[in-house]
Amino acid sequence: MYLPGVGPKRAEILKQELRVVSYEDLIYYFPYRYVDRSRIYTISEMQPDMQHIQLKGHIASLRTVGEGRGKRMSAVFTDGTGQVELVWFKGLKFVKGSIQANATYLVFGKPSVFNGAINMVHPELELYDENKSRIQSGLQPQYNTSEKMKSHFLNSKAIQKLVFNLFQSYQGKIPESLPAWIIEKYRLTILNDALRTIHFPKDTQLLEKARFRLKLEELFYIQLNILRLKNQRTFHIKGHIFNTVGSYLNLFYKEHIPFELTNAQKRVIREMRQDMGSGRQMNRLLQGDVGSGKTLVALMVMLIALDNSYQTCLMAPTEILAGQHFETIAEQVASLGIQVALLTGSTKKAERERIHAALRNGEMQILIGTHALIEDTVVFKNLGLVVIDEQHRFGVQQRARLWKKNLNPPHVLVMTATPIPRTLAMTVYGDLEVSVIDELPPGRKPIQTMHYFHNRRNQLNRFLQEEMDKGRQIYVVYPLIDESEKLDFKNLTEGYEYMQKSFPHAQVVMVHGRMKSAEKEAAMHIFASGQAQIMVATTVIEVGVNVPNASVMVIESAERFGLSQLHQLRGRVGRGAEQSHCVLMTSFKLAEETRKRMEIMTRTNDGFEIAEADMKMRGPGDLEGTQQSGLPFDLKIANLTRDSQILQLGRDIAMNVLEQDPLLEQAPNQILVRQLRKLARAKINWGMIS
Ligand code: ADP
Ligand code: MG
Repeated sequence: MYLPGVGPKRAEILKQELRVVSYEDLIYYFPYRYVDRSRIYTISEMQPDMQHIQLKGHIASLRTVGEGRGKRMSAVFTDGTGQVELVWFKGLKFVKGSIQANATYLVFGKPSVFNGAINMVHPELELYDENKSRIQSGLQPQYNTSEKMKSHFLNSKAIQKLVFNLFQSYQGKIPESLPAWIIEKYRLTILNDALRTIHFPKDTQLLEKARFRLKLEELFYIQLNILRLKNQRTFHIKGHIFNTVGSYLNLFYKEHIPFELTNAQKRVIREMRQDMGSGRQMNRLLQGDVGSGKTLVALMVMLIALDNSYQTCLMAPTEILAGQHFETIAEQVASLGIQVALLTGSTKKAERERIHAALRNGEMQILIGTHALIEDTVVFKNLGLVVIDEQHRFGVQQRARLWKKNLNPPHVLVMTATPIPRTLAMTVYGDLEVSVIDELPPGRKPIQTMHYFHNRRNQLNRFLQEEMDKGRQIYVVYPLIDESEKLDFKNLTEGYEYMQKSFPHAQVVMVHGRMKSAEKEAAMHIFASGQAQIMVATTVIEVGVNVPNASVMVIESAERFGLSQLHQLRGRVGRGAEQSHCVLMTSFKLAEETRKRMEIMTRTNDGFEIAEADMKMRGPGDLEGTQQSGLPFDLKIANLTRDSQILQLGRDIAMNVLEQDPLLEQAPNQILVRQLRKLARAKINWGMIS
């Protein structure tokens, strides 16, 4: 409010609309793009695919053309090299009233093509002035503003003026936020200059240098914080030492394992054994595409815990998945005499009490379940390892509660089936070690994916019949994003009836989130046992369901699913030796983006590639997997998709710093401590970072 040009009213609006309340906030309110006014183009140089450009010349004629909605103002603009049409559809009166004949104008706009000729629609016009002030020349910053701001004359230009006023008094006085040695070593622009340049760039090169410095700083501090927390954990927390490979693992490996482990599975188990034998607490993220065999890896690691006389638990996001894990694992370890229990929200009271008691006295060795595991009533005698499946559905806080279940925190293994782009993993899970299973079990045939429009339903049905004749089973999935959506629900039940009618000889079951879990279970069982050939379901089956004989996944209204969700759903098939298929059904009219999603799905089965594409198309904040927990911070200038190299550099520098000075005690690094404290106070919710 005290800044020239602001005052109480505008101060309030800046606060409401931009959360800008201090000079510092304003300085860190960066332009979202720049337009190049450093150069004047000639009309003869104009190309249709150019970005915004600037021309200098005269208005030769001006007239109103067309009627009704097509009514517009058309001007012929010349600069001696040619002429171009300028067009306005709105504010015609204003344009007509303000244009002066014989005056020299700077015209600023983006060339477009109409009827084979280049024109400019709604260009900005400005009287040309030889002595214009510096803030109007060169690269023009554009600031995001809202309608409300504009109605109080706080448009992009006005913001720029405010920043200009601020710099008049603060130029050179902004304290540096990186240690001098880092600035020197990486030849970075100093903060004062970087901030000035970001608002008033003299040329593209300086601007790029300034942006680089600010991006690097932003990503560096995030990494420094994550890695420091990780370091602290490593220093202060003693991990249980699992140094015995005992009879459980040996026996299982020699006699009960149903198949040869893939090399990738062997490698990640080795990595985890190293962690767990090191005396440090393991905190590892296990990434692997759907079907890569993470559950088996988890089981083997859990057996190591048992061999060292610890208890272990496996937490899954849904009852269906927890139940399935329980069945698989109980069956695999049954003959080893291991005590395994399933605990979910629908476990009966008597059973629950039995489990609680057995956990407390140490008899129960493996506990599998849902969120119910986190409840305070669940107390272990000696919990040594926690495995969390399908990480993205658990908040970090929930994970932390599991930790506290033992005096000495257990080892933690987090498994995700939605591959996360590397940059995002480095940022959101930056304190976890990462293991990747990058190999599918042998003999899997890549799933063939097709995209059909609705009018090919007969063809689809013939195909489904053929598959069933071969003895295969089929999933049909309907979008039901919000289980309370009436219309979606109707689609689902109609789909169910349609399948019954179309395939009178098949048994069809339906599974959705509104069913009681006993009903769900029963339907799942009928399908899993092979009694039913078709399962019509919502995305409740998205995660983890494992029926190897199911070879076709039909996804209805596929346009309504995100990429990684489609990939997850598709991962439900292709688990047996048979050729599997995924059919994406959509309506005919598709948005450009949707078309691209379908194209990516039909082109690749690689979950990592899909995750990268997803992040490029939607930005990291919207990625499934981070949506629920939210990206824990807003990046002001860096972009996780585009700036992966800068991110890597930031991480490297942070590692380097902590290697030299693990507790940040050296004098030149005090600036880092101050800055971390400041960031902790500010918007970044570090608690959200795992
Ligand atoms: P993920 O959880 O990674 O999606 P799962 O652990 O459910 O994958 O494994 C998918 C399927 O592959 C299961 O049926 C599992 O029994 C099988 N499987 C796991 N490892 C192997 C292997 N090494 N060889 C053959 N099949 C395997
Ligand atoms: Mg799984």
